[in-house]
Amino acid sequence: MALTVSIALTVFVFAQSLDRQRQEAAELGSHLASVLDHELTLRETAVDGIVADAEHVLLGRAKPTVDVTAHLVAVPDKGGYALGVPPGYDTAEVGSLAGLGAIPAKGSAHAEELDMAFALSPGFRAVQLRNPDVPWAYYFSRRSFVYMVPRVGADDFFVTKALVDEHFQHRADHARGRRVFWTDFYEDRAGKGRVATVSKTVLLRGEVVGSVSVDVGVGTVSALLAEHRSPYVHLHLLSSTGVDMIGEGAPPGPVDVASAVESVPSSVGDAHAFVSALRHADWHVAVVTPRRAARLRGLRESLPYGLMTLFMLASLLLLMTLTRSLRDLAALSVRDALTGLYNRRHFDDVARVEISKTHRGSVTVGLAILDVDHFKAYNDRYGHHAGDQVLKAVAGALRTSLRRASDTLFRIGGEEFAVVVVVDRPDQMRALGEKLCAAVRALDVPHEGSAGGRVTISFGATTVDATRNTSFEQAYQDADAALYRAKAAGRDRVEA
Ligand code: GH3
Ligand code: MG
Ligand code: MG
Repeated sequence: MALTVSIALTVFVFAQSLDRQRQEAAELGSHLASVLDHELTLRETAVDGIVADAEHVLLGRAKPTVDVTAHLVAVPDKGGYALGVPPGYDTAEVGSLAGLGAIPAKGSAHAEELDMAFALSPGFRAVQLRNPDVPWAYYFSRRSFVYMVPRVGADDFFVTKALVDEHFQHRADHARGRRVFWTDFYEDRAGKGRVATVSKTVLLRGEVVGSVSVDVGVGTVSALLAEHRSPYVHLHLLSSTGVDMIGEGAPPGPVDVASAVESVPSSVGDAHAFVSALRHADWHVAVVTPRRAARLRGLRESLPYGLMTLFMLASLLLLMTLTRSLRDLAALSVRDALTGLYNRRHFDDVARVEISKTHRGSVTVGLAILDVDHFKAYNDRYGHHAGDQVLKAVAGALRTSLRRASDTLFRIGGEEFAVVVVVDRPDQMRALGEKLCAAVRALDVPHEGSAGGRVTISFGATTVDATRNTSFEQAYQDADAALYRAKAAGRDRVEA
């Protein structure tokens, strides 16, 4: 029983643990998604500020201080132009400018856009100072030039037609009408590690002239993932196509991010995954729990309950058994084994207490001794075993005849019984004796060695009250003497 209860409890706690683990994983996923979204918002805000500056200049509301065309140099082998360091500027303040085609004429719209791009330098530098994980900040123009901070040599980076097309085509494919657009993480061409780019279009009178971009390294995102790691789950940042971008190794199977529903786990290999979409980028956080790990944790949490319950129930059962044994032991010591009646020792205790009560009150106690007649002869004739059965039958007859709670019956010797009763008048003992003798007679057990031909008893009694200060020993002697008289007078009779 104890085992069943503890197994049931273990199974229950195990199931609870699996449920809670799922809930924790779902909550972790959506929490992490919102923390990452917050980080993305911060980067977007920086880009927003630079785009606002750019549009401000393009609309002629602020005048750039440097005429960029005056400092451009042709780069014939790349088919374009680059920017030198204008006088009065430190190299660190000036980014790389690389454009395709001929150097544009001073005062043209192209030239004005170049001046605007150069004017964004302080904004680009500020973003990088605030965010150490931003390797590049740049302006990409539809007029096929790129202005990029920090500055690199023309040999290390130069814009190409393919690059310009790719930049704007990629945006057209993925931005879905949004002005701000995040790419997935990819390997930086200049060896700055894995980066994702956030870009926002620059508009002039509703037309896209270019875009401001900031590359963001994995540092912050990795740190956030590491911060939320636990021994039971794996965290993955998945791309728009479900590819792991920064996680701890690939997920155990392909994750279908397109059809994943938040707070409903999807099966991924031998694991389940909660997938939460970010709002700012087409990225997804996947909280992957290997089923084995979940089961192990469930067991670790439920087994102690089971074992504790088993231990407690086993102890309880042991205690109950022990208590019962002790009670049986106590009962045995006041009972007679053959008849189940109270024994001689208990008679001595009870009779002594009852008689002592008469000394201080108006209560009258009757004490009777009963003895089976010619029982030796019965044993001799019918055998000891039959004798035992007679003793049991006599005990039963006496017990059923004594119905009052205060009547107590004892077997005080071989074929001797005693009764201790509370009476109102002394003559009640005679009536009780007649009743008990009749009850035994009514058993009608044949006894050829007896005068009446059946088993009978003789009854001797005395009463004790406050008027006589009788002791237990004296009362016992009086009852025994009365029994002797009954025997002498022919047996099967009462002397009281
Ligand atoms: P009386 O009428 O004078 O009492 O005669 P009696 O034979 O009953 O008296 P006695 O004391 O001579 O014999 C008592 C007999 O009771 C002796 C013994 O064999 C028998 N006896 C005592 N205890 C038991 C018992 O537990 N079982 C059986 N079967 N017999 C017992
Ligand atoms: Mg006797
Ligand atoms: Mg006898």
